Amino acid sequence: MSTPMPTTTRAALDVERIRADFPALHQEVHGRPLVYLDNAATTQKPRRVIDAVSRFYEYDCANVHRGVHLLSQRATVAYERARTTIRKFIGAADSREIVFTRGTTEAINLVASSFVRPRLEPGDEILITGMEHHSNIVPWQLLCAATGAVLKVVPITDSGEIELDRYEELLSDRTRFVAVVQVSNALGTVNPVKRMIEIAHARNIPVLVDGAQAVPHARIDVRDLDCDFYAFSGHKIYGPTGIGALYGKREHLLGMIPYQGGGDMILSVTWEKTSYAEPPHRFEAGTPNIEGAIGLAAALDYLDSLGLDAVAAHESELLETATAAVLAIPGIRLVGAARHRAGALSFVMKGVHPHDIGTILDSEGVAIRAGHHCAQPVMQRFNISATVRASFGVYNTIDEVQRLVDGLHKVKEVFG
Ligand code: PLP
Repeated sequence: MSTPMPTTTRAALDVERIRADFPALHQEVHGRPLVYLDNAATTQKPRRVIDAVSRFYEYDCANVHRGVHLLSQRATVAYERARTTIRKFIGAADSREIVFTRGTTEAINLVASSFVRPRLEPGDEILITGMEHHSNIVPWQLLCAATGAVLKVVPITDSGEIELDRYEELLSDRTRFVAVVQVSNALGTVNPVKRMIEIAHARNIPVLVDGAQAVPHARIDVRDLDCDFYAFSGHKIYGPTGIGALYGKREHLLGMIPYQGGGDMILSVTWEKTSYAEPPHRFEAGTPNIEGAIGLAAALDYLDSLGLDAVAAHESELLETATAAVLAIPGIRLVGAARHRAGALSFVMKGVHPHDIGTILDSEGVAIRAGHHCAQPVMQRFNISATVRASFGVYNTIDEVQRLVDGLHKVKEVFG
């Protein structure tokens, strides 16, 4: 028997109306209405985003920054306006502090190459945590291999929280950079990044925050955080794939070498000497993802129109309800039980491989993620190879949580 559940959420969101904005939600999967709980991997897109991208292709399709003709001017205005939307959304002071990237991964690689690398001597240290996504591990490993720097890792507790005292101890005279995830995609843990930044800054160490899983779930203010860099991906916040942003403090960006060379990032090119454009264009070589930027801005406007506080309240209610209901099923154990969690619920079921759970849930129309979630060191920390992860978005409902729980009961029936 499944656990009884509240039928409505407390939050002031009209979720049925919101669901109507997302065409992909209204389909059947294996003959069952789709329940989409893989939002940490990527989110579905509202009509407003789809229309913004189509509109670009239908009316404004031209390259940016180059043409004198009207379409090119319109495309440029829309692209640069998107930068301003992002600036406002994350509380940055200046649009020139926003660099368009392919996503979080590219933003982190950009900072590793253009900001950190020139500052490193052999034996210097970079500090990350034990709950990073591979995209906040591998760029630093590559950098360490190339420079002789050393990667240090802050351990995490059994409940999936950062060991803050160890963090302080691991910051040394050789630490040149800290990179930390704000919300873990594998555990859902919300890290005390503001405090961590304060601690690092007391030693003059710059900090990058990986906000990929944070921006969709809470209001972010980069000036309040005082982070040096902040990275996020559009597709996890109801925007298109292949677009994201890097926020960097203006004084840092101004001093950084280009990440890639090509068109649109130069002031002048001669055989003797090439000079580079000012940030952010210095870091946007080549034709950018114009429609992606426009779509991302539409997604942020959409989320703003719903009210981020109401969105956060709704999602935290879904998470709380799901956590209680899933834990009530015998044999299920949570992986990561931090005091502050957002977005995602990770668990294992005794005697059943997460992939089998994923397959059975899929046959019930429930889309979750089973695997290591690109965070293999987290799996190693908990001596498991994979977890089941249900992750929530603005359009999910308590009824859908019930469908997840019903599906898990079905798994138990199949596996006895
Ligand atoms: N950081 C975290 C915490 C993530 O969850 C992800 C994606 O799952 C990434 C970084 C990488 O994002 P992207 O693949 O969009 O670059």
